Amino acid sequence: MLRILGFVALASVAFAQSPSPLRGKLIQPPDKDPVIEVNGRRVAIEADEDTWQVLRDERLAGADVQLLGNAKDADHFTVSGTYLHPVSVWRDGKRLYVTYWCDVCYIRTYVPGKCWCCQKYTLLDPREELDDR
Ligand SMILES: [Zn+2]
Repeated sequence: MLRILGFVALASVAFAQSPSPLRGKLIQPPDKDPVIEVNGRRVAIEADEDTWQVLRDERLAGADVQLLGNAKDADHFTVSGTYLHPVSVWRDGKRLYVTYWCDVCYIRTYVPGKCWCCQKYTLLDPREELDDR
């Protein structure tokens, strides 16, 4: 019996550490942190600053988004680090990574804002692949 309990404990730790997706509607309440609405329930988000900037991008308001991370409980979700590209949007049945594009300099970034080169406000450019080919 102890052995079984040990196995269950180990399995739950492994489960907690491997990122899983959370898909829902991105809600951006005024003056509050964005939340994800899943089946009518609002899930609070923890994320790093780059991810917050993406989630606060007004062009993504109401979008069908998918976050990679770990559920703390039914109402709280911790988004994985920015380097894992944890934010995607669903459009036309396809999951697309959220990226930003400067069409002047041909520079791609993953955080909204001005192009670091020419200062133009970058375009929201969701893509199926992260690599430019
Ligand atoms: Zn530029």
